[in-house]
Amino acid sequence: MIFDYPEPRTARRHGPYGYSRYESYRPWLRDEFTFRCIYCLKRERWGQVTAEYELDHFQPQTLHPDLELSYDNLVYACRRCNNVKRAQAVDDPFAVATSGHLKVLGSGELLAISGDAIRLVRVLDLNAEIMIQWREMWLRIAELAEENDPVLYRNLFRFPEDIPRLDRLIPTGGNARPDGVVQSWFARQERDELPESY
Ligand SMILES: [Zn+2]
Repeated sequence: MIFDYPEPRTARRHGPYGYSRYESYRPWLRDEFTFRCIYCLKRERWGQVTAEYELDHFQPQTLHPDLELSYDNLVYACRRCNNVKRAQAVDDPFAVATSGHLKVLGSGELLAISGDAIRLVRVLDLNAEIMIQWREMWLRIAELAEENDPVLYRNLFRFPEDIPRLDRLIPTGGNARPDGVVQSWFARQERDELPESY
């Protein structure tokens, strides 16, 4: 389903460190979060440019300047969600999103079934009427495209053209989770294991 939150995982796939600018983590975060906003699941391919996506410090820089360059404190977020969140602190969105505690219903409503998931939905205002309508609209688009226009369906839900080649990146400080590169989307594409859509 197009609004499924990521599969349960205990740790991030990647662990680059040592970059002097947090923007340098962007290709790692795009891959880690599968080219979607971690909060609302809006996909890169639903807009025109990837610049609509921002790197959010989930522990805000104002409260935790020491974590400004920490990969594990960064998430990939759409501009809307980053703006709504601003400097509010939330529990680690990676942990919440991969906990299985967030589920989008057919009505477009987002169901949160644990305390940290409920807090995330509240801080990000993910059940605002406009967000419910937006999800309901995309669910209907997906249904119609799947039934009537498989090419459109693939275009809306396939991977982007510019999947980053993480094997060519050398983080300044190293990579605490080097095995993740083999699991990256580019590596899967090279092995012919990339699904047509996700
Ligand atoms: Zn978002």
